[in-house]
Amino acid sequence: MENIDWKKLGFGYLDADYNVRCYYRNGEWGELEVTSSNQINIHMAATSLHYGQEAFEGLKAFKGKDGKIRVFRMDENAKRMQDSANGILMEKLPVDKFTDAVRKAVKMNERFVPPYDSGAALYIRPLLIGTGPQIGVSPADEYLFLVFVMPVGPYFPEGFTPTDLVIMREFDRAAPQGTGKYKVGGNYAASMYEGKKAKAGGFSAVLYLDSKEKKYLDECGPANFFGIKNNTYITPESDSILPSITNKSLMVLAEEMGLNVERRKVPYEELAEFDEVGACGTAAVISPIKGVYDADNDKWFKYGDEPGEWSTKLYNKLRAIQYGDEPDAYDWVEIID
Ligand SMILES: *Cc1c(COP(=O)(O)O)cnc(C)c1O
Repeated sequence: MENIDWKKLGFGYLDADYNVRCYYRNGEWGELEVTSSNQINIHMAATSLHYGQEAFEGLKAFKGKDGKIRVFRMDENAKRMQDSANGILMEKLPVDKFTDAVRKAVKMNERFVPPYDSGAALYIRPLLIGTGPQIGVSPADEYLFLVFVMPVGPYFPEGFTPTDLVIMREFDRAAPQGTGKYKVGGNYAASMYEGKKAKAGGFSAVLYLDSKEKKYLDECGPANFFGIKNNTYITPESDSILPSITNKSLMVLAEEMGLNVERRKVPYEELAEFDEVGACGTAAVISPIKGVYDADNDKWFKYGDEPGEWSTKLYNKLRAIQYGDEPDAYDWVEIID
């Protein structure tokens, strides 16, 4: 095979050898199928194409010092995909089908799991789409679930480095009672415009305020938000936030480390009180934030150019569990063999 330069990997699409698929037809899910084609053949009137009946997941597999491959909390991803399916009226995939497909996709593409010392990982992308044709707005009667994988580089190739976020009140990612809490493509389409604008301005992402009142912090485009002050890890509670599995795990670790943990509405003004803030998600675990710029009021909230003490501890701890360097006290990782 062509040799992969593990140290040069970024977060770009790469073909692995196989992907795993499962079709819902005639009212039932079929068996898992393995294919080496990266193409799908889809009806032009498929609901995923016209009406956004589409949900996805993202998780990672890590190779440890011991050479073993570990997948992090995939049952949580399976359950979240079921919630997304419920939310936009797609057929739910059983949790064990999801986890079997992930195991199979990782195992069959084992040679793409980056070595321990590269700091890279295997990214796993499960996808659920409506494939049945409809022209009226109603759910499809056929679905395709598939899992593909690709090696991705470390999120911070030059080390764990803080970036800036921007608040722009003229944009919303999701409606207050809308689909923000589901991992669906529509939310991503809805946030691309301002995401690009943020990047062009030198920011890593948009920090959205709640779309109803613009009083509370919601989340970033692709990641949850947290702040730390007075020995307390604080993360927003909102109906339009996607429940991040990384955030859920960090809350457990924060408590274990002796921090208080609060999940509640976080008023915008509290940005001035945090000692540390971060964005969290599978891609980076934690992206420390050095500043939040409120573009509407030309106002900066600054948190220092170096990652904060707690953010660093939390980041190191979660990564150590994922790579198998530290004991998995909560049964979060599964070894694939
Ligand atoms: C996927 C996602 C996250 C992060 O969730 P993890 O389970 O931690 O990867 C956060 N916000 C949004 C909008 C997402 O789609």
